[in-house]
Amino acid sequence: MPSFDFDLFVIGGGSGGVRSARVAASLGKKVGIAEEYRYGGTCVIRGCVPKKLFVYASQYSEHFEDAAGFGWTVGESSFDWNKLIEAKDKEIARLEGLYRKGLDNAKAEIFDTRAELVDAHTVKLLKTGQTVTAETIVIATGGRPNLHTALPGHELCISSNEAFHLKELPKSILIAGGGYIAVEFANIFHGLGVETTLIYRGAEILSRFDQDLRKGLHEAMEEKGIRILCHDILSSIEKVEGRLLVRTKNDKVLTVDTVMLALGRTPNTENLGLQAAGVAINDQGAVIVDEYSRTSVPNIYALGDVTDRVQLTPVAIHEAMCFIETVYKNNPTRPDHELIATAVFSQPEIGTVGLTEEEAAKRYPELEVYRAQFRPMKATLSGRSEKTIMKLIVNAADRKVVGAHILGHEAGEMAQLLGITLKAGCTKDDFDRTMAVHPTAAEELVTMYSPSYRIRNGERV
Ligand code: NDP
Repeated sequence: MPSFDFDLFVIGGGSGGVRSARVAASLGKKVGIAEEYRYGGTCVIRGCVPKKLFVYASQYSEHFEDAAGFGWTVGESSFDWNKLIEAKDKEIARLEGLYRKGLDNAKAEIFDTRAELVDAHTVKLLKTGQTVTAETIVIATGGRPNLHTALPGHELCISSNEAFHLKELPKSILIAGGGYIAVEFANIFHGLGVETTLIYRGAEILSRFDQDLRKGLHEAMEEKGIRILCHDILSSIEKVEGRLLVRTKNDKVLTVDTVMLALGRTPNTENLGLQAAGVAINDQGAVIVDEYSRTSVPNIYALGDVTDRVQLTPVAIHEAMCFIETVYKNNPTRPDHELIATAVFSQPEIGTVGLTEEEAAKRYPELEVYRAQFRPMKATLSGRSEKTIMKLIVNAADRKVVGAHILGHEAGEMAQLLGITLKAGCTKDDFDRTMAVHPTAAEELVTMYSPSYRIRNGERV
């Protein structure tokens, strides 16, 4: 039996990497972990966490306006971008510290360096040139924004990475993409007073979500003043007199201060020594794993966004916990990627779990669709024109709720709880016999007694 320097070596200090390293170390394993940038990874350093802080910041403009309807007179308000960045950076540094502390307390050895594989059991630490060996290796290097280098002028654009550190808030921004990041940042910048345009290649933003919510959010965003150009893509960007001149495929010409690309993310697998170690990747560059997160090399695992699964922090953490069960607790556990509740922190928010109406219609011969659209109570006095949409998709054969979709305030919070009910296999009858919490928006979920319509063999009836 060869002896190794470490039982486990983890490359990448993000959500999946830190969780696997910390828990393995707390089980008494000798663990090393290397991170080339900052511990916490995309989620903590330049993703979910700072994004949510920005979302809060951007909501104040509407809060101030809404206050008048409730009798408040709000004095003149102004926004200081640098103060927000400073406060955000302080909080992120605090969280990064907690990640390091967690690893340290569990007695994992922390390396602040890029690490690359030399072979199936050997890792090179680039800062010192030192090599270390490990019985098991985890690759959790995450992903990065796709820079679309074929786009003329791409080097003039920013990605979400830079959006967190802009020296000043632009007066106008064009955001390319129709996914989570593009939509969330369009709402953030607009809320902070930036003239915002979104450009998306498809017919409707947020392609993987329920059609009703996509349309509802699109309308709400346009009503706020966000310009949305669908069926169009960027064709070139050039710098003209300090601003950016953008041409689109549909011959539109726009002049803006900043262009942000949010056109998907690329797994971080280049120059990682994967070939030397024998780790296979797919044609998108993502590490190929089996259902236990094991790569083509039996002692090397891969977790999170570096694999081609679901790019979400809780998923990476769950995959890490399954890895621990499988490798260190003699309890082979496959990550469960079914019924993942998720939120888009747009304004209004989207919260969703399970199948969209369109997906469910393909899977089941008959569906009952319960749909409510209403003005949220707060809007009655604030005077804001906005609507909440709630939708339950029910398989008529067994009454199971197979999809739940919300557009409205706190939809993300509701999606978390709906995730439990769908995971537990609740039926519409379970929803019906649940007492409402009044007055809330969520009570609508348990008071929609008759279907709004049915879908039979794919046809609405
Ligand atoms: P998404 O996959 O959500 O969106 C990418 C967008 O870019 C899509 O609209 C896609 O269009 C478009 N696109 C891709 N390639 C091109 C191209 N060549 N030309 C024009 N448009 C293109 O990725 P994001 O980058 O927004 O986010 C990455 C991941 O991070 C998400 O999948 C999500 O899992 C996670 N995330 C989660 C958040 C949350 O939980 N709230 C927040 C932010 C990110 P099309 O739809 O037509 O394919």
